[in-house]
Amino acid sequence: MIKRTSRNVIDYKRASISVVKSAIDRRRFGKQVALATTGLGLMPYTSFGSTKTRLEKDMYDVIIIGGSYSGLAAAMTMGRSIRKTLVIDSGKPCNAQTPHSHNFITQDGATPGHISTLAKEQVLAYPTVFHKNDVVTDVEGSDGNFEISTLSKKRYKTGKIIFATGVKDLMPAIEGFADCWGISAIHCPYCHGYEVKSKNTGIFVNDESAADFAKLILNWTDDLTIYSNGTAVFDKEEVSKLGVKVVEEEISIIHHEKGYMSQLDFKDGTSVDIDALYHRAKYEQHCKIPEQMGCELAETGHIQVNDFQRTTVPGIYAVGDATTPFRAVSIANASGAKAAFSLNHELITQQYQ
Ligand SMILES: Cc1cc2nc3c(=O)[nH]c(=O)nc-3n(C[C@H](O)[C@H](O)[C@H](O)COP(=O)(O)OP(=O)(O)OC[C@H]3O[C@@H](n4cnc5c(N)ncnc54)[C@H](O)[C@@H]3O)c2cc1C
Repeated sequence: MIKRTSRNVIDYKRASISVVKSAIDRRRFGKQVALATTGLGLMPYTSFGSTKTRLEKDMYDVIIIGGSYSGLAAAMTMGRSIRKTLVIDSGKPCNAQTPHSHNFITQDGATPGHISTLAKEQVLAYPTVFHKNDVVTDVEGSDGNFEISTLSKKRYKTGKIIFATGVKDLMPAIEGFADCWGISAIHCPYCHGYEVKSKNTGIFVNDESAADFAKLILNWTDDLTIYSNGTAVFDKEEVSKLGVKVVEEEISIIHHEKGYMSQLDFKDGTSVDIDALYHRAKYEQHCKIPEQMGCELAETGHIQVNDFQRTTVPGIYAVGDATTPFRAVSIANASGAKAAFSLNHELITQQYQ
C-alpha cells in the first residue's frame, strides 16, 4: 500500500500522477507540471524545485495571506484541487508563546511549532503550492485580477485571495502579563484548562460577563477569584453566590518563572499566591488590508463571512481567528478547508460559464 506522507513524496507522486495528468490539460500551467511529472514516470522531488520556480512567475489561482493553521489548511485543499496556490506568511501566529497546544486531535500536547512545521511540510509536498516568508503590505485590483505587494518589494498576481491573517491580542499594561500569555495567563479553558484544573486560579475581568465567566471556569476549579483590577462594574453579589471571591485592588506586578505565575502584587502593597489567570484579551485584526479593501467587519471586529467563508468583497475569502471568536486550531483548520472547498467550486463554476 502506498503511504501518502511527505516523507514518501516519491511514492505519493506515483500514486497521484494519474490524477495530476488528467487535470493538467485544463490548467494554464499544466504543461510545466507535466514536464516534471511525466516522461521518466516520475522525477525526484528535488528536481521539481526548478519547475516550481518557473511556475511561480505566472498568475496564481489563489494567494493565501497568512500561513498558520487556517491558511495551511486552505492551502492543502487548494493543492489537492490542483490549483496554483501561493501562501505568504509573516510567521507570527497568535499562539507562538504557548508551550503545548491542546485539544486538536492527533496533536494533543504538541508544540505549536511542531504542528505548523508538519503542516507546512505536508502542504508543500504538493507541486502546485508555493510558500514565501514575507509580509503582505498592499492588495490592489478586483475579483479575477488582484495584485499583491509585500514588504520585500515583491509583487504577485492572483485571481482570488484568502485572508488567514488571524488577530493580535492586546495585553493589559501590567508587568509580567504578556510574559505569561499562553503559559499561565490563559485565553481559553478548552485549550489549557485541564492542565491547571483544581489549581489556585483567577479570572482577570471587569465587565458584565464576570458571573458567566466564573460559572465556566468553576467547571475546572473551585479555587477561584475574580480580579477586577479596579472597582467592579459587575454584580458582585451574583458572583459571591457562586462561592467566587472578588478582589478589586489594582494589580502592579505578576511574578512568574518563565511564564508560570506564582504571585500577584497589588498597588496597596498586598499580594496573593496564584497559579493561573484567565483573561479574554482585547484584540485587533492582525492585518488591516481586508477592511481597507471594503470587507465588512462584524460588531465583534471579525471579518464578516458567510457560511462559505466568503467576505462581502467578491473574490476574497477569510478564515480562522480573523473571522470568529471560537479560537482553536481545530476550528481554524476547518474554516480553511471550508473556504477552499467553496473557492474551488467557484473556480469550477466560472470555468464552465
Ligand atoms: C496564547 C494562545 C494559546 C492558544 N492555545 C491553543 C491550544 O492549546 N489549542 C488550540 O486549539 N488553540 C489554541 N489557541 C488558538 C489558536 O492558536 C488559534 O485559533 C489559531 O492559531 C488560529 O489560526 P489562524 O491561522 O487563524 O491565525 P494565526 O495562527 O494567528 O496565524 C495568522 C498568520 O497570519 C500571518 N499574517 C498576518 N498578517 C499578515 C500579512 N499582512 N502578511 C503575511 N502574513 C500575515 C501571521 O504572521 C500568522 O502567521 C491559542 C491561542 C492563543 C492566543
